[in-house]
Amino acid sequence: SLEQGPEGPGTPIQVVLRVRPMSAAELRRGEQSALHCSGTRTLQVSPPGGGPDVAFRFGAVLDGARTQEDVFRACGVRRLGELALRGFSCTVFTFGQTGSGKTYTLTGPPPQGEGVPVPPNLAGIMQRTFAWLLDRVRHLGAPVTLRASYLEIYNEQVRDLLSLGAPRPLPVRWNKTQGFYVEQLRVVEFRSLGALMELMQMGLSRRRSSAHSLNQASSRSHALLTLYISCQTMPPVDPGEPPVGGKLCFVDLAGSEKVAATGSRGELMLEANSINRSLLALGHCISLLLDPQRKQSHIPFRDSKLTKLLADSLGGHGVTLMVACVSPSVQCLPETLSTLRYASRAQ
Ligand code: ADP
Ligand code: MG
Repeated sequence: SLEQGPEGPGTPIQVVLRVRPMSAAELRRGEQSALHCSGTRTLQVSPPGGGPDVAFRFGAVLDGARTQEDVFRACGVRRLGELALRGFSCTVFTFGQTGSGKTYTLTGPPPQGEGVPVPPNLAGIMQRTFAWLLDRVRHLGAPVTLRASYLEIYNEQVRDLLSLGAPRPLPVRWNKTQGFYVEQLRVVEFRSLGALMELMQMGLSRRRSSAHSLNQASSRSHALLTLYISCQTMPPVDPGEPPVGGKLCFVDLAGSEKVAATGSRGELMLEANSINRSLLALGHCISLLLDPQRKQSHIPFRDSKLTKLLADSLGGHGVTLMVACVSPSVQCLPETLSTLRYASRAQ
């Protein structure tokens, strides 16, 4: 498990692979599984035409029998929470093709109706982390201020999922104290788990109902929920600067499929380009961060809104956990292989 990590941030990116169970539709169509977990860290891929298996190793590999609680534990999210309480910027993001289980992993299954809560056993990494964090803060004794924001990036435009006014694109800016930040983003203080859950529900339902989510297209935007944690006892990063708190960010990335394959045109093509631009920029930044030759001289975080907003987690003062999500079906194998390669390169 990733729970027993080093004291500090250590390796910048940890990668966990989750294979979801076969869906009812995949089973109905009689699709075979192409994936087998061997041990807790290795995934074996069997090519459909026979031939030798290909093995991929990750920090943890979780098969379709693993529960939401298993995933939460194996991901070591509590360790990220502890680091965030000490002032680090931590990010958990899910990566994979549409339908691979990214949203399920972070937030559980879609609600059965408006205002119907997700059953506790199906709650995702986000609800579990929220509950853990509020409990932890209650026991800390020290005064901690907790705030949250929720935004989506669609076609390289940032939209506030918690804004009270009419939604309009918000600019991403940079300053020395905060690094990259979204101007005029609504950041809401909360004091209870219930209040935070309400903020999450508001963002989730806004995301589902936004214009582009007709045609199942919430899978074409990136959604970022960020928790800002400031403790009075936290030391400032630079002497003379106000204390900057820790951050814990949850990112539900857009589907990683190559939209070219769907023959999309016009608006869809624009979406495809900006999705790929963000995901390519993310992959590029990660590979440069991991390259010891580069000595982190210049990382092109400015190449996309996504990488700007994840810069502090990926770079200097943070820890990033990637949960790569895949379907077991042989029909998804081409996309699964591209997810596995992207995820392997990130560690
Ligand atoms: P994505 O966000 O990657 O597009 P979803 O999270 O929406 O994918 O998952 C696709 C479908 O599969 C949803 O109906 C979801 O509830 C279901 N699903 C995903 N992962 C699991 C899982 N581990 N167990 C049960 N159902 C799952
Ligand atoms: Mg989704």
